[in-house]
Amino acid sequence: MSRIAHRVAFLAVAAVSLGAFGATDVDPRYVWHLDELYPSEAAWTKAVNDAVADVPKIEACRGKLTESGAKLFDCLQIYYAIDRRLTQAGVYASMNYDLDTRVGRAQQMQEQARQAGTTFLSAAAWIRPELIAAGAAKIGALIAAEPRLAPYKQPLADIVRRAPHVLDSESERLVAETARMSNAGQAIRDVFVNAELPYPKVTLSSGEEVTLTAAAYTKYRAAVDRGDRLKVFTSFWGRYNEYTRTLGTALNAQIQAHEFSRKTRKFDSCVEAALDGDNIPKGVYTELIADIHANFQTLHRYLGLRRRMMGIDKLGYEDLYAPIVQRYDRTFAPEEAKTLTLDAVSVLGKEYRDTLANGFESGWVDWFPRPGKKSGAYSTIAYGTHPFQLQNFTGLYDEVSALAHESGHSMHSFLADRAQPYATHDYPIFVAEVASTLNENLLFGSMLKKAKTDDERLFLLGSHLDNLRTTLFRQGLLAEFELAIHEMVEHGEPLNGENLTALYLKLLREYYGHDQGVCDVKDAYGAEWAYIPHLYYNFYVYQYATSVVAAVKLADGIRDEAAAVPPATAKRDAYLRMLAAGSSRYAYDMLKEAGVDMATPAPFAAAMKDMNRTIDAMEQILAKRGK
Ligand SMILES: [Zn+2]
Repeated sequence: MSRIAHRVAFLAVAAVSLGAFGATDVDPRYVWHLDELYPSEAAWTKAVNDAVADVPKIEACRGKLTESGAKLFDCLQIYYAIDRRLTQAGVYASMNYDLDTRVGRAQQMQEQARQAGTTFLSAAAWIRPELIAAGAAKIGALIAAEPRLAPYKQPLADIVRRAPHVLDSESERLVAETARMSNAGQAIRDVFVNAELPYPKVTLSSGEEVTLTAAAYTKYRAAVDRGDRLKVFTSFWGRYNEYTRTLGTALNAQIQAHEFSRKTRKFDSCVEAALDGDNIPKGVYTELIADIHANFQTLHRYLGLRRRMMGIDKLGYEDLYAPIVQRYDRTFAPEEAKTLTLDAVSVLGKEYRDTLANGFESGWVDWFPRPGKKSGAYSTIAYGTHPFQLQNFTGLYDEVSALAHESGHSMHSFLADRAQPYATHDYPIFVAEVASTLNENLLFGSMLKKAKTDDERLFLLGSHLDNLRTTLFRQGLLAEFELAIHEMVEHGEPLNGENLTALYLKLLREYYGHDQGVCDVKDAYGAEWAYIPHLYYNFYVYQYATSVVAAVKLADGIRDEAAAVPPATAKRDAYLRMLAAGSSRYAYDMLKEAGVDMATPAPFAAAMKDMNRTIDAMEQILAKRGK
């Protein structure tokens, strides 16, 4: 459900090494049972048709929605009942498709569910304007007079909150029409980069000749041979540099579309327009960037450690993806992965742990890769059922971590579903990745405690540091770049390849300490912005950083409290309340109530403490080894 990268498995091995667990492939505990949602395809089709047949009941409410509290309640019941049935049908269709993407019928069902959804949404499009026209006072009075409206209080309040940015119906109709054009920049970029950009060929030190597509670049930028890495970087970015005029024009088109939306909806800035959807204060965004700038010395300290471990004189930007420690040379059995995950989350309480343990044994997870199955991992849910996790488990440590990550999403869904009515069960993205990264953090802490050798410790510590470098500083840089290019457009300065590359290179050098000699950033690397699809997503990437920051702060608090004498549970309970709150309150407020105010420097300071602590631990091991 979220676009935040669910650990897309570019590990080529994952898709083929069925062998190890092939035998358990048919164990019913290790596969999804989609008949829990519908006993047959016919039942699915009937459910879709029945829901669509109810759509005219929504039309019948038009013009009468706010006649009385009872009327509003009845209409919302109809609306959410259709929504729930179509959502479940859509979840089933996409899970069914993901299990075997080669089946034409599965794709058809997805399309059928999508079309039913579109029919429903266009039939219900008048609801929002009608509520807004009634006004906050009227809606408030209806809620006060009709207790059955209580579950709808937050969704109704949210619609009214956004009223100042909703236009009259004719303007709304015009704006809706522009949707056909507003993604042109992204569409052009996607087709160009995926189908037409002539990716360069390089010959590696092994004699192997490779075409550096995006996937190959991701693989070979981690090459062990430094000469290879340099070759990969200079060829790949050199090629991108030849096309920054085209890609700059595409990005400009996209940002101009955001600016059009900002202007028509009367926001002061594009960032405020984008953050308004989840009611996130702008201060969260600006605080993140200020915190990053105040903590460059920690990033530089990490880069120094990396240089030392790699045994090179001067670190370059092309050295940042190469492995600095040996990976686990062992694999993990599914039972071990479960146990490690359950041990890690036990600090969240017996109920959390036992619920997940039970889920593992009752079809929550479809474990193994199979021909045609979607790659990567995710978690989804249809309200009133149970979470469903897709995994492609082959026994690598990264996949144990993916199990912990997705189990965070699954438990979030489970707890919110159990506590909330349908209207507020779905949680906002701003908190979604907190629940998953917190579990990754707990797994890291628990694995570190269990580690028996320094090699194992170095691997865990090193992975944790790489993770903090990429999610906080790399994504933070992208967030800062995104803010700056929107501001340029707001001030009437169009974007082009030249000014985008100049700005990106300036930020890259500032972040990585180029002028202080910390890490050398070559001119060619300034084209990296042209490679990042997320810059088209309208202020999305900052959430990668805020999620990890919030998760570190929460995990630290929960662990400390559990280790105290006597142990306490206040922080843990506050966190679990946040998970159970679904979308019954705003994301920023929920996190704040759980003890993390993302508009203040405290959470980032906790993350930096964690990063420095991790560097200390690695340095101690290195000192012991006389390195
Ligand atoms: Zn996730």
